[in-house]
Amino acid sequence: MKDTAHTLPMKHWFELPPGMIYLDGNSLGPLPKGTADRLQAMMTEEWGQNLITGWNRDGWMEQPARVGNMVARLIGAPEGSVTMGDTLSVKVYQALSAALKMRPDRRVILSDSGNFPSDLYMAQGLIQQLGHDYELRVVAPEEVGNAMDEAVAVAMITHVDYRTGRMHDMAGITKAAHAAGVVMLWDLAHSAGAVPVDLMAANCEFAVGCTYKYLNGGPGAPAFIYARNDVAPAMEPALAGWLGHDAPFAFEPEYRPAPGIARMRVGTPPVMQMTALEHALLIWDHVDMPQLRAASVALCELFIRELEARCPDLTLASPRNSAERGSQVSFAFEHGYAAMQALIDRDVIGDFRAPDIMRFGFTPLYIDEGDVLKAVDILEEVIRDRLWDDDAYQRKALVT
Ligand SMILES: *Cc1c(COP(=O)(O)O)cnc(C)c1O
Repeated sequence: MKDTAHTLPMKHWFELPPGMIYLDGNSLGPLPKGTADRLQAMMTEEWGQNLITGWNRDGWMEQPARVGNMVARLIGAPEGSVTMGDTLSVKVYQALSAALKMRPDRRVILSDSGNFPSDLYMAQGLIQQLGHDYELRVVAPEEVGNAMDEAVAVAMITHVDYRTGRMHDMAGITKAAHAAGVVMLWDLAHSAGAVPVDLMAANCEFAVGCTYKYLNGGPGAPAFIYARNDVAPAMEPALAGWLGHDAPFAFEPEYRPAPGIARMRVGTPPVMQMTALEHALLIWDHVDMPQLRAASVALCELFIRELEARCPDLTLASPRNSAERGSQVSFAFEHGYAAMQALIDRDVIGDFRAPDIMRFGFTPLYIDEGDVLKAVDILEEVIRDRLWDDDAYQRKALVT
């Protein structure tokens, strides 16, 4: 353990409403203490007083690279290999497009049916844009390793399934991809800050992810994109924006990409969001990743054990083996949506994914055993006493 590592949880590092058990950090991480003050200072002192000189004086222009290096340390990527900006969907599009250009003779994008729909939609949109005979091949998650063949240009796989928490073998699948000459793109949306990730060891060409889930960057926080050091200098950016240009302030009429990953920048970065994220990422200097993973596994196992013993109507929808699971646990229940609303009403916050999945994220930074046991008590009551069977809990909100 690093001597700077703190004993988990670090609850007092977060602004959590008293009494709330927050099991949704896999969807939107909580506000870290001090982030609001940092943002206030950025607005009043930097934006307010320095105005446009803030781009130089306050380091706003280098922020995507600086914050990228902070993220790189969490995913086993070297300095200078990650940049920040836009949303994850946009980063998926960019990485996918760059990957296809690396295999001009191949026509298949391989993904799996557990992938997040936006990743699949971005692939479909890109294929339409290319107008050739490209194809998105979607196989069952267990089939990914065997589906690599000479027609596949790129495998676009999300490491941890958003719905079930099922975790792919990153090193093994990347190896299978490379054996078939396939470019490997990992989506780390539910991995960064949740489980140990070692991109250098996996040796994949590309990775992308978001920062508002386990990295606590706040709603709308910018996404990240990684490209391997030997791949980055040859990438052809699909979105050739001025801030990915080699010399943005030369204002040349022709696009010339910046030397490395910086060419995956597009336009003006969201400085306020990036500032909140940069502050939130400071926490990780004090976290030992193997310790975090061990705590996450213990919390998930406790939850599964207690819930199965006390709520037999709910069926485990996540892998039972913790080595095949990320930092979340899902249970299927016919009245899952209503049960989740009843639970939220009682200050236990999880979420629901159609058709019947109740999803619970376990984030050891601010969740402990006591929280898990209390959440199970309340859930047991909701199920046993059919508290979900109330008209108010049936109405679907815009965000579930
Ligand atoms: C959360 C998530 C997204 C969301 O993409 P945004 O563009 O940031 O809204 C995309 N893909 C995966 C796999 C996700 O888990």
